[in-house]
Amino acid sequence: MTTTTPAGEQHETDAQHPAVTALRAAVQAATVSHRDLDRVDTEAFDRLHAVLAEHFPLLHEHLELVRVPRQALLFRWRGRTDADPVVLMAHLDVVPVEPADTWTHPAFDAVVADAPEGLAVWGRGTLDDKGCVVAICAAVERLLASGATPERDVWLSFGCDEEVSGTSAEAAVAHLRDAGVTPWFVLDEGGAVASGAFPGVRRAVGVVGVTEKGTSLFELRATGRGGHSSTPARNGPTVRVARAVTRVDAAPMATRLPAPTVALLHRMAPLTPLPLRLALGAVGGRLTPALTRALQAAGPEAAAMTRTTLATTMLSGSPAANVIASTATATVNARILVGDTVASVAEHLRRVVGAGVEVAVVEAGEPSPVSPYEDDPAFALLERTITAVFPDAVPAPYVMMAATDSRFFTAICERVYRFAPFPMSKAQRESIHSYDERITVDGFLAGVDWYAALLTGLPA
Ligand SMILES: [Zn+2]
Repeated sequence: MTTTTPAGEQHETDAQHPAVTALRAAVQAATVSHRDLDRVDTEAFDRLHAVLAEHFPLLHEHLELVRVPRQALLFRWRGRTDADPVVLMAHLDVVPVEPADTWTHPAFDAVVADAPEGLAVWGRGTLDDKGCVVAICAAVERLLASGATPERDVWLSFGCDEEVSGTSAEAAVAHLRDAGVTPWFVLDEGGAVASGAFPGVRRAVGVVGVTEKGTSLFELRATGRGGHSSTPARNGPTVRVARAVTRVDAAPMATRLPAPTVALLHRMAPLTPLPLRLALGAVGGRLTPALTRALQAAGPEAAAMTRTTLATTMLSGSPAANVIASTATATVNARILVGDTVASVAEHLRRVVGAGVEVAVVEAGEPSPVSPYEDDPAFALLERTITAVFPDAVPAPYVMMAATDSRFFTAICERVYRFAPFPMSKAQRESIHSYDERITVDGFLAGVDWYAALLTGLPA
């Protein structure tokens, strides 16, 4: 922003920026993904591809495009040297809009209007994840227009089914593996330039995910005779599953501090008020009871940092009002913190639910390996770029709570980082997968600058 123009006028011109126009067009293509492929509006994805081709002609002219099934895109930008390439990831699909949610502006209209954070583009996907898709493309387009060539190959991998845990990212990984590509680092969505994220810290934190929790599903199942509801036996399947659910709720897994969380707390320490500063600075690999209480009290976001969480989601029992269930089940959705495993969680569940209820693994997802962040040249490049574009933000590693497509890339790359270079308030972070999702115009354009600076800063 310049000081010679009144802020209002500057906003006007920012809102007319070609990258903002491209973002709005991208949001207007309602690329909702579904597990049931028959329900996917493939034309919406075609429209999004067309939007990208129209707004980023140089990118489409100079980069090689590999079409990955079904509607994912994988681009290769040849660099000056054959040093290990970099992969920038984002996804083209979005989650549906719940009919009951009332949006301030319609979810797929991409209206530009004021938000508490400033002038913003409103709509589904602005933050998750079309902001990244379009900012990456805009940065590449800008560099191509200036005649730049990156020092090493840059791949752009845009999946089409991230929100339904689909296979397009795996297909991209398979293509790269077949091509003999071992990336120097991979960067996907995940972290942000987050304000209000850490109790007592006024500055924004540029959190870069260095590992993510694993998502696993377990089924608790009890079986019995069933029969007519007029002659119930005690302790039937439904009762046993109900008891198991309350036992799981009452027996959370042990709290722990993985190394990246310790590093995050150490970086936050100098920014916090004195008593907390001393407590955080002194954190070793263990959680003190006082710190555990502080993190638990800071809300579910901070509490989830300290342990594997177990949430009971689906329940099923009798199919009819006058029938006793012969089988009752409950689904436990576990988000596994690095240090725990699918096997250790299954063991915990078996011990807690006791006899009479079986525990089965329905879907197994281990936590991702921890990518390097101390004295690492790639992580240091991310940190430098964050500090250069967002001087007020403090970069820090962290453990991501949600799953991203980047977990598949851990198979071919030891450095997988998760960071979206956009300032996000707490309300904005809460709008993801919810309603009133929005990105500020200024923040989005800073994100374009960030990707351009990252690509320019790649060493040979
Ligand atoms: Zn996403």
